[in-house]
Amino acid sequence: MARVLRSGWLTSGREVERFEAEFAAAVGAPEALAVNSGTAALHLALAALDLKTGDEVIVPAMTFAATAEVVWHCGARPVLADCDAATLNLTPAAAARAVTRRSRALMPVHFGGRPCEMAALREIARARGLAMVVDAAHAFPARENGLAVGAARGAAEATAFSFYATKTLTTGEGGMLTGANARRARRLRSLRLHGLSAAAWGRHRRGATPHYEILAPGFKYNLTDLAAAIGRAQLRRAAGARRNRAGIAAFYSAALAEGPALEAPPPAAGGETHAWHLYVVQLRLEQLRIGRDRFLEELRRRGVGASVHFKPLHMHSWYRRAGYSAAMLPAATRAFPRLISLPIYPDLTPAERERVAAAALEVARRFRR
Ligand SMILES: *Cc1c(COP(=O)(O)O)cnc(C)c1O
Repeated sequence: MARVLRSGWLTSGREVERFEAEFAAAVGAPEALAVNSGTAALHLALAALDLKTGDEVIVPAMTFAATAEVVWHCGARPVLADCDAATLNLTPAAAARAVTRRSRALMPVHFGGRPCEMAALREIARARGLAMVVDAAHAFPARENGLAVGAARGAAEATAFSFYATKTLTTGEGGMLTGANARRARRLRSLRLHGLSAAAWGRHRRGATPHYEILAPGFKYNLTDLAAAIGRAQLRRAAGARRNRAGIAAFYSAALAEGPALEAPPPAAGGETHAWHLYVVQLRLEQLRIGRDRFLEELRRRGVGASVHFKPLHMHSWYRRAGYSAAMLPAATRAFPRLISLPIYPDLTPAERERVAAAALEVARRFRR
């Protein structure tokens, strides 16, 4: 940060180039494009597909607003698909059921940092000629099918990361799009900054011309050098931070197994690495006299701040008006009133994690049916 301030170049420049190169190396992708949010990364990935009115993109219902909103921004329609009851990830069966003649892309979300069943999803995308835009906002660093999430997986796949304040790697606000498609990367590099032929940093270099061409109407999605400097420092700590979060998750799962009514998230499947952005407990409501919101309030009274990820998209008014109902997405509908995210971040101390688990167990026992 201080280095960037002293340099006098605050917006996208050398620091962004270095952050991109380091992030690309960390995930094993030939291209990485730094942007100012995860939403921008998703939007650019879809912009590269030149979607038309009537086109459809398959999006899990169990996700944050951003995954689906960028589909609307491209003039297409998100088609919501259901999740697995335990992992809350989009299931290949639900994705396959959602495919129609108008489907253009599949947008799996690695919910909470747990990789989706990507081999099966890729097979659906390949068989139906769909692009794959992976929402990895929760999934840095994670691994699936032998490679890092975000690694080169073919020209039809792109992966979007978020560096929002709460995410596992943060730049305050920021994001990254990775992939292995040189033509797409060149086009998106231009669209990222107003569709210009050359960004200011390139024009500033010795021997470069001050002129640029507007190649297409683009976006203001570039990341600042200030943010990139934070990202580079965060990147160096990412592996250790993930280990800490995995340790906290293992601690919670062992502790919660001692009491009633609390269903811990399943462990990561063999060969996969979970980023543990979220630790989502499902309440067994049949065993409790109180609902989820009261459970959260009881935790808060005991000094524990817990949260909910997510209210599924189809339960929000915009999507109800778009014709979605609870019956269409039964697993996400059933999961929502049961979800509680316990605090999980790298410097949560052993004493704090014990206090969190003890409070959850105490509330579960006290309000047991
Ligand atoms: C945070 C998040 C995003 C968007 O990231 P921003 O950097 O906030 O734009 C996208 N998808 C999911 C699932 C997220 O949680």
